[in-house]
Amino acid sequence: MSTFPNQARAVIIGGGVVGCSVAYHLAKLGWTDIVLLERRKLTSGTTWHAAGLIGQLRATRNMTLLAKYSAELYGSLEAETGVATGFRQHGSLALALTDERFEELKRGASMARVFDLAVEVLTAAECGAIYPMVNIRDVVGGVFLPKDGQADPGNIALALIKGARLRGAKIFEDTRVTAIHRANGRVTGVTTDRGEIAAEFVVNCAGMWGREVGRMAGVNVPLHACEHFYIVTEPIADLPRDMPVLRVADECAYYKEDAGKILLGAFEPVAKPWGMDGIPDDFCFDQLPEDFDHFEPILEAAVKRMPILESTGIHTFFNGPESFTPDDRYLLGEAPELTNFFVAAGFNSVGIQSAGGAGKALAEWMEAGEPTFDLWDVDIRRMQPFQNNARYLQERATEVLGLLYADHFPYRQYATARGVRTSPLHERLAARGACFGETAGWERANWFLPPDRAAAGETAAYEYSWRRQNWFDHAAAEHRAVRNAVGLFDMSSFAKFRVEGRDAEAVLQRISANDVAVAPGRIVYTQWLNDRGGIEADLTVTRLGDDAFLVVTAAASATRDLAWLRRHIPADAHCVVTDMTSAEAVIAVMGPASRDLLQPLVEADLSNDTFPFGTARETALGMATIRAHRISYVGELGWEIYVPADMAGHAFDTIAAAGQAHGLRLCGMHVLDSCRIEKAYRHFGHDITDEDNVLEAGLGFAVAIDKPASKYGDFIGRAAVLAKKQAGLSKRLLQFKLDDPEPLLYHNEPIHRDGEIVGDLSSGNYGHHLGAAIGLGYVPCTPDQSAADIVAPRFEIEVAGDRFAATASLKPLYDPKAERMRG
Ligand SMILES: Cc1cc2nc3c(=O)[nH]c(=O)nc-3n(C[C@H](O)[C@H](O)[C@H](O)COP(=O)(O)OP(=O)(O)OC[C@H]3O[C@@H](n4cnc5c(N)ncnc54)[C@H](O)[C@@H]3O)c2cc1C
Repeated sequence: MSTFPNQARAVIIGGGVVGCSVAYHLAKLGWTDIVLLERRKLTSGTTWHAAGLIGQLRATRNMTLLAKYSAELYGSLEAETGVATGFRQHGSLALALTDERFEELKRGASMARVFDLAVEVLTAAECGAIYPMVNIRDVVGGVFLPKDGQADPGNIALALIKGARLRGAKIFEDTRVTAIHRANGRVTGVTTDRGEIAAEFVVNCAGMWGREVGRMAGVNVPLHACEHFYIVTEPIADLPRDMPVLRVADECAYYKEDAGKILLGAFEPVAKPWGMDGIPDDFCFDQLPEDFDHFEPILEAAVKRMPILESTGIHTFFNGPESFTPDDRYLLGEAPELTNFFVAAGFNSVGIQSAGGAGKALAEWMEAGEPTFDLWDVDIRRMQPFQNNARYLQERATEVLGLLYADHFPYRQYATARGVRTSPLHERLAARGACFGETAGWERANWFLPPDRAAAGETAAYEYSWRRQNWFDHAAAEHRAVRNAVGLFDMSSFAKFRVEGRDAEAVLQRISANDVAVAPGRIVYTQWLNDRGGIEADLTVTRLGDDAFLVVTAAASATRDLAWLRRHIPADAHCVVTDMTSAEAVIAVMGPASRDLLQPLVEADLSNDTFPFGTARETALGMATIRAHRISYVGELGWEIYVPADMAGHAFDTIAAAGQAHGLRLCGMHVLDSCRIEKAYRHFGHDITDEDNVLEAGLGFAVAIDKPASKYGDFIGRAAVLAKKQAGLSKRLLQFKLDDPEPLLYHNEPIHRDGEIVGDLSSGNYGHHLGAAIGLGYVPCTPDQSAADIVAPRFEIEVAGDRFAATASLKPLYDPKAERMRG
């Protein structure tokens, strides 16, 4: 056994499958000075008792690519390390018991085809042929993934750690980290019950202890443990050993063959949070007490689904804890609060199948100093500080476990832990028929139930479907109001950062690709780029005064953008950032009648000459002091009214009272999105991410390549943009409109060019004005191709297995010359 070190390049906390994978992948990158610390024994937390399903199809492109990589890695680890992982690829079969579920499965199958994941859509009879033991009477259809598999989770971890050890990593069991050290915003090491280790990097892979370990470092790691159940039957004679894994999500159940027995696992709708008083110190290969009553509904359905279970005894009832995050996606990446402190935790019962890909992605991120491809789905920076609240986590945890097998309808909203962040206008909107959704904790009106429908007794609540949902027509009416009259959006959830000081301009010039050295009162739309020219943030910067700027970004990007901003303020710069999000509400008044509506209410002259597009000024609205910003995300004439939170109600009432005469309609976030997609405005996290070059995203117009360098240098990404200009573009973001007005697009639908899949949609919505579903998506191109060449081929978009002809465009299909917002 090696002597206990007092220094390491990287300390990994936690010897579950995830910590082992991070160690393995760092070692593979050539990091030799790695120490993994495990408080008890390797795998003794959650890893040892996992069911071992290795699925590959995830909700989005990059998550699927990572899961696919895990499966490939587990297939090759035994040859590399000599440790058998028990990996077997007998496939997995997912059954649909409803048309809606079948639609979801078929859409997933379409997505799988984008990256060559083998997939078959089956009739009920074909499902029965693959799985004769299953009752298929009420089955609508299914999807078979032949390359899915199963494995022995503990041995995967042990194979990974052996691979790491062979490359020089040191492993210490029975070693608990008790404190984490930081200095000047960076992590500097850990204290353990065996001594201190100074370290350049620390990685939190502590599973359900991850939140506590995060708190040692002052870092939010929002996760909560839940009880998670399966049973294993007595041996069943002649049970085939090559049975695929079976998922019957409509009955919250999965089945797998396990050494001649059947393992039946559950994702019940209301889960049992666990560990509210902390995870016991002595937890080691432990299980939690049985709860047969809790499991019984799953078993009842299972006996009907697989009649052989009726005559088979139960050998094991297993209940083990696993950690869940507020949105069912794991937490990966460098903590926004602390440089070089990385997190890979909260794996929501898919940690075995995710560990390979997550470990690789994290190791590459640590090596490169930034994610090497888009990981926004799981990036820890999507979390808001309040989400680390224990009560919030406990309440949300009851829901998210079951959501894994629930119908993943578009626009589906959480039912738990709601109402935490509300706009000052919340009650007013609720009284006027708002149906709220949640983003970053904010309750936001997504659509409005018209008054006549409310009077008829309807309530503003979602009825989910993959087809037109109950609010489709209401959204269409809101959309028409924005295009033809005027709509009001409550945009108070915008994140707002005030950047002030003598060096504020220089700091913002360094991180903004556009030129923000403008006159006070100007609004600049800009991206913040990384060194590769990829897009880290998409926002506006408004110059409020000589030394004061306001950065406005989406609610979901608040933590990420604030961290990026703070990290790029040089230590000696005279520049401070204050988060003003809650101080001001934002009322967006958008549409051709917005000027006529607002002019009588405000002191400022709203004419084009004195208040042009892209400017902001302080004025009065009614009796309130406001700042009006002439800008638009829906592509119409309009103003965003920034009003102190305490005067927001007055401002709203003033606008609403005057609005009746102008056809003012309250509008929700769904229509904000449907309007912006008609205008082909990009949406951060979907259409534009850190792996998308700003030029290929079609945002070159917002890059001031020739602006003078600030005292901190050229803007970040400038060299990459120049290089891309020289090399030419190899992909372009196109806008698509389906010829058929019926199908709906959400995102991830495959794009066929002349019959061949060339990409998938990064976002989709219905264009109520253009009269069909609209999508945005990248397609590959060569540098010499003209715009006409790029859009000329025959394009089709695949929806649930069927292809629909689409018109492609490089210019926005709605108002290509942007005349309306400048009118
Ligand atoms: C019943 C059940 C079935 C499952 N089935 C599947 C499945 O089929 N497929 C799948 O992909 N996933 C499955 N999972 C999920 C999977 O088991 C987990 O996601 C995965 O094991 C998480 O691994 P981890 O490394 O993050 O956590 P853990 O395995 O819990 O490892 C964390 C380690 O950190 C250590 N640690 C904590 N604090 C400290 C400290 N202060 N100092 C030092 N060490 C510390 C702990 O001792 C622990 O060993 C299942 C889970 C359960 C409960």
